[in-house]
Amino acid sequence: MTKAGPSIPCPFEKRYPSELQRDDTYYMSLAFNGAIDGWRADEVPIGCVIEHHGEIVAASHNTVEGAQDPTAHAEMLALTQAAAALGDWRLDGATVYVTKEPCPMCSGAMLMSRVKRVCFAVTDPKMGCLGGATNLNDLPKVNHHLELTQGGVLEAECRALLQAFFQMKRRDSRIVDLDSPDGQSAQGG
Ligand SMILES: [Zn+2]
Repeated sequence: MTKAGPSIPCPFEKRYPSELQRDDTYYMSLAFNGAIDGWRADEVPIGCVIEHHGEIVAASHNTVEGAQDPTAHAEMLALTQAAAALGDWRLDGATVYVTKEPCPMCSGAMLMSRVKRVCFAVTDPKMGCLGGATNLNDLPKVNHHLELTQGGVLEAECRALLQAFFQMKRRDSRIVDLDSPDGQSAQGG
């Protein structure tokens, strides 16, 4: 059972990437900032940004605790935002940037929405479904495949953020048990 404790101040600073260089690090920096917003709202700090032809069409963080909604993962919220922004559920040409590898639900939604590419910072060997625990992208009869950038983009920063959050939560005696000893794979990813 995970239960949000009282807010713990986030010791990490937001990043201010140059808008002149809109590369993977730029977009992941914005996803990282979303994760910090999540922490400040006492949510598991996972952030997501969706880019489409150079424009940001969605930016979100996990809101599972606040919404009391198990589907309110950063990626799910971002996919919905992006579809609304584009007026099309088919997110052809879009790239999803997320600070942690998507779970089964979010990986499935990315396939269903036909995004072009997924770039995630931290691999999740427990629940990640784009290569960490398993890979939905390898389903043999699915006709859409995602391009993947797995790790390497702000990986250390995003990992440190998640690990720090769970370490601080564990120190809170009111938290009986988090289901993940390494701070990954908890709800919200
Ligand atoms: Zn998810």
